[in-house]
Amino acid sequence: AKQGGRGRVACFDSGLMKEERYRRQIERELRGAILMNELEIHYQPIHGLTDGRISSLEALVRWRHPVRGLISPADFIPIAERSSLIEKLGDWVFARVCADAAHWPGLKVSINVSPVQLKARGFLDMVKKCLLATGCSPQNIAIEITEGVIMDEMAGQAEHLRELRALGIGIWLDDFGSGYSGLSYLRDFPIDVIKIDKGLVQDMASNHANRVFVSAIAQLGHGLDRQVVAEGIETEADLTLARAAGCSHAQGYHFARPMAAKDIAAYAGFGASI
Ligand code: C2E
Ligand code: CA
Ligand code: CA
Ligand code: CA
Repeated sequence: AKQGGRGRVACFDSGLMKEERYRRQIERELRGAILMNELEIHYQPIHGLTDGRISSLEALVRWRHPVRGLISPADFIPIAERSSLIEKLGDWVFARVCADAAHWPGLKVSINVSPVQLKARGFLDMVKKCLLATGCSPQNIAIEITEGVIMDEMAGQAEHLRELRALGIGIWLDDFGSGYSGLSYLRDFPIDVIKIDKGLVQDMASNHANRVFVSAIAQLGHGLDRQVVAEGIETEADLTLARAAGCSHAQGYHFARPMAAKDIAAYAGFGASI
């Protein structure tokens, strides 16, 4: 332990050490959770703003912990990303989603893929294997990537995204408008859909600059022939602003919360693909 003053040692222990212990505990339990089938995928609809119909679904992982209850991905994905666990978890998600999506022809399902996972050697083979094993069409699958992936791709392996694209898998850019979000990404990478970060969308009502930003992104997207999804639409007012800004699609609690796979068929009545 650290020397010099009991207070400092205690503080160090209850702070960083505790956090580190917690992280390792979650990591250990998560490893078991994948084997014990404690993970599940919920699906959140994305709607077209011209016809109002469902066009696609975002797959969002949850952990049904036997003691702690339903745990949000925000609480375990970052921990998984710090170890090789994210690959196992990501593979499980891909297989589960392909199996579900095979039953929903005409509905595209987008999967969040961590930069670490996309970089992993076997990623492309894993994807092909999932498609083959489930009979899911690549047209039914898209991956959602963030700025972090773009940075990695720029650092060298730009082929990854193009190979996925060549298979017929959609490439969607998530959380656009948060972080640095360079405009050149949209020009230089094979991106089909731009998802505008909910932070930007939700502030539109109170923040004039955000309305200008969302409009500009929507216009840019359409000029480049990309679809533009407004995330985090919670109210009728949010929806009106997103439509006025020129977004083509929207997602958020106003339409539906993420739901279990078994509830999708009834919700969708099976609409057209994005
Ligand atoms: P994200 O990709 O930006 O996903 C959108 C998040 O916003 C989801 O949180 C969703 O439930 C939430 N959301 C949807 N509509 C609304 C709304 O109207 N208002 C508000 N306030 N929130 C809304 P969730 O499911 O907790 O996921 C959090 C993050 O965890 C995701 O953010 C994504 O980065 C990550 N994640 C989720 N599933 C996966 C996965 O399978 N793999 C990886 N690598 N990451 C995942
Ligand atoms: Ca996402
Ligand atoms: Ca997002
Ligand atoms: Ca996010």
